[in-house]
Amino acid sequence: MDILSPSLEDYLEEIYRFSLHNDVVRVSDIASCLDVTMPSVNSAIRKLSEKEYLIYKKYRELVLTEKGRRLGKFLVERNTILQNFLRAINSQCDKGAEAEAMEHYLSLPTIRAIEDLLDFLDKNRDCQMKFMRHCRYRKQMGLGLVNGYSDK
Ligand code: CA
Repeated sequence: MDILSPSLEDYLEEIYRFSLHNDVVRVSDIASCLDVTMPSVNSAIRKLSEKEYLIYKKYRELVLTEKGRRLGKFLVERNTILQNFLRAINSQCDKGAEAEAMEHYLSLPTIRAIEDLLDFLDKNRDCQMKFMRHCRYRKQMGLGLVNGYSDK
């Protein structure tokens, strides 16, 4: 199995996400979505096309292959699962940025285990409510990890 680098994964993820809502995907669309320069997009696009995840057509149009769509769908779903997880555990972080960091480092078994947990919570709303009450209680009591970087 040819595993893509985190950076190439992000390009493919964004191209797939963009393709869900737009008929045509252009290199410039992806550059603005990811806020990167055209040369770095071009280099990523070339690598993705060499690996047969997409076809680079005229007028700078990108078309995902079957293989590219399959992986793109996985990458978008993986990101969604992690954002839902951060929501479910009531994390006060920037969920988009944190999911972005986690997705490249967690193994597939861990992400599937998280998915099981989310499904369980979804089907057991009472557990979810109990957990949220517990979070509020701990917060009120000032319980939790003390930040060793802060002297406050
Ligand atoms: Ca990503």
